[in-house]
Amino acid sequence: MAAKEVKFCEELESESESKMFGPLNFDEVGTHSPQVTYSEVVCLLCDNIFNIPLSFEIFVRHLFEVHNLLIEDVQTMDNLPEYIRYWRDKFKQTPIEEIVPAIRIDSSHRLFFMLSTLLEDDKKLRHRLKLEHVLKVQEFERTDTSYTRMCLFCKLDFEGKRVDFIAHLENHHNMQLGNPQNLVYIEELVEKIAETVDKLICMFCNRLFPERMVLKEHMRKKLHKRINRRNSDYDKFFIVNYLESDKKAKNVNREKDEVYTSEDSLNDDEEYYDWNEKEDVIICLFCDKRETDINILCLHMEADHGFDFAECMKEFDFYQKVKFVNYVRRQMHRKRCLYCDVAFTAVRSLQNHLIEEEHCKIPDIKVFDQPEFYFPTYENDAFLYLIDDVED
Ligand SMILES: [Zn+2]
Ligand SMILES: [Zn+2]
Ligand SMILES: [Zn+2]
Ligand SMILES: [Zn+2]
Ligand SMILES: [Zn+2]
Repeated sequence: MAAKEVKFCEELESESESKMFGPLNFDEVGTHSPQVTYSEVVCLLCDNIFNIPLSFEIFVRHLFEVHNLLIEDVQTMDNLPEYIRYWRDKFKQTPIEEIVPAIRIDSSHRLFFMLSTLLEDDKKLRHRLKLEHVLKVQEFERTDTSYTRMCLFCKLDFEGKRVDFIAHLENHHNMQLGNPQNLVYIEELVEKIAETVDKLICMFCNRLFPERMVLKEHMRKKLHKRINRRNSDYDKFFIVNYLESDKKAKNVNREKDEVYTSEDSLNDDEEYYDWNEKEDVIICLFCDKRETDINILCLHMEADHGFDFAECMKEFDFYQKVKFVNYVRRQMHRKRCLYCDVAFTAVRSLQNHLIEEEHCKIPDIKVFDQPEFYFPTYENDAFLYLIDDVED
């Protein structure tokens, strides 16, 4: 077992030299995500140095035995070296006792420190590392040209970029997987869909069919060649689901609507077309106007704030749009003009300024095209989920 691990790590190390992020093994994506950066790290609490992939277990035992420290879900941590560095810097400034709660885990009188998401900083850090990891995976998938797969529906033996395969599914077989810019782990997604269809189950409504032809006909007629966004099994394939740190809460709310597997409701397929029906309330970027339809809200922004969202965002990619929205939200929250950054004491005066100066416009892209704006200013900001639904 130990020997096997060493071999695995050596492979990773030699590969990481040549590739942008060699350690990612896409055959295994989804089952286990190895750390993106493999380097030696200095312990959080002393000056011992550990090579994380080679001596992961020794490191964990060292933390436990020498420092009485436990790290929640340490095996599945994205970019553990970065995580360690973050806390090491923290503990240099503030002693661990003042940050991390101590707990007693056995009958002894030993106290242990537990680094977990119960700490707000820890939660934010893990979220950042997770998001960065997913974006790196996505970046790889966008550019990698070595993807091969037989088409699910025709005899095409595809080789090339994943996005082009998605385009083939859409153009030749009318399968609507949405904007590939929003997708990640595409390989695993395709396998999941193929598996579902092979079991003669509809990918959208989960209904079981007696034979393939009937299923194909059903999916075609009912427009079920797409993902049911209420089905949380598909959450991991959509980038938006990584933007919020508390996505789980949202899924729980959704559960009560998940009736699509029950026998009665299957007769009424119409119902599933509109997975958006549990309507999200979207708040205007510039005032507190609320709408449930993003396009109606965009009309309001154009009429009342002179801001044509679709037109302004034309040149931006998905992430730049997300960052722009988060940036505007933060500026408004801080009562600062999004365009000239002038600060106000009251929201009212800021709004007057925006109208008088016509400053509801996009500042220099460098202002908001920053990694910090990947993160939502407000939790559950529906605007972010619906960004791609804006029509020109
Ligand atoms: Zn140590
Ligand atoms: Zn095909
Ligand atoms: Zn169906
Ligand atoms: Zn408004
Ligand atoms: Zn201004």
